[in-house]
Amino acid sequence: MVSVGIDIGSTATKAVVFDGEILGQAMVPTGWDPKESGLHAFRAALEKAGITEGTAGQIVGTGYGRISLPIFTSRITEITCHARGAHHLHPDTRTVIDIGGQDSKVISLNPDGSVADFIMNDKCAAGTGRFLQVMAGILDASLEELCILADGADPVSLSSMCTVFAESEVIGLLARGIDKGSIAGGIIGTIASRINALAGRIPLMEKITFSGGIAQNSFICRSIGKSLGASLHVPTAPQYVGALGAALLGWERSLD
Ligand code: ADP
Repeated sequence: MVSVGIDIGSTATKAVVFDGEILGQAMVPTGWDPKESGLHAFRAALEKAGITEGTAGQIVGTGYGRISLPIFTSRITEITCHARGAHHLHPDTRTVIDIGGQDSKVISLNPDGSVADFIMNDKCAAGTGRFLQVMAGILDASLEELCILADGADPVSLSSMCTVFAESEVIGLLARGIDKGSIAGGIIGTIASRINALAGRIPLMEKITFSGGIAQNSFICRSIGKSLGASLHVPTAPQYVGALGAALLGWERSLD
């Protein structure tokens, strides 16, 4: 029997099939129906693993949509799952920084990988993927283009952390003819300072593992590392860390 972890996030739904090693993984947009996205990711990951639905013993749900699927054998918070996934990939991890589509979190780990403490920003878009997407949209750029623009540019300092105010500020800067690269640098600087402020509220212990979709961008990784004055572990597939943690926790339960 295999274990499947399904992380139904605000933006993307990820599934990982595990039986002592990763057999398959898949991701679909969450869309308006988290239940449908969960099932879709579940079936796609099983297909990639080359196994049938009946082979899944433990099916562990995590993420904001974890309540939605009746197929789950258990549901575990994304804090616990991100900690477990990061500890598996980088056993020396003592802090996880996760930036998702609509929230960001900083999790402190004990040396054995269990959660010691965490802090989460899920009330506003500042410091999340949503903030970056909105700002990139104003510059008529994709997220990748935003980072290419910012790389090497002299960043302006944005005074607004709030997405709504920052949007007006960026529109004002463009109207004044400020170079797009400098504005892009300012936007990424804002994300880095927001994460720095969040991380300042709990003990920030090295080593730090950076998870979530945003960690796929190397320029943002470098900016956050620089702002924290620390080097970051960035897993090969950072967006799957929560789903992997869920699959691992299910796998461990199946061995009990
Ligand atoms: P959630 O679990 O909240 O759905 P994820 O961890 O799946 O969040 O990450 C989704 C975020 O990652 C989105 O804001 C998306 O724009 C961003 N993202 C996805 N791919 C990339 C990439 N290659 N570079 C930077 N950001 C990315």
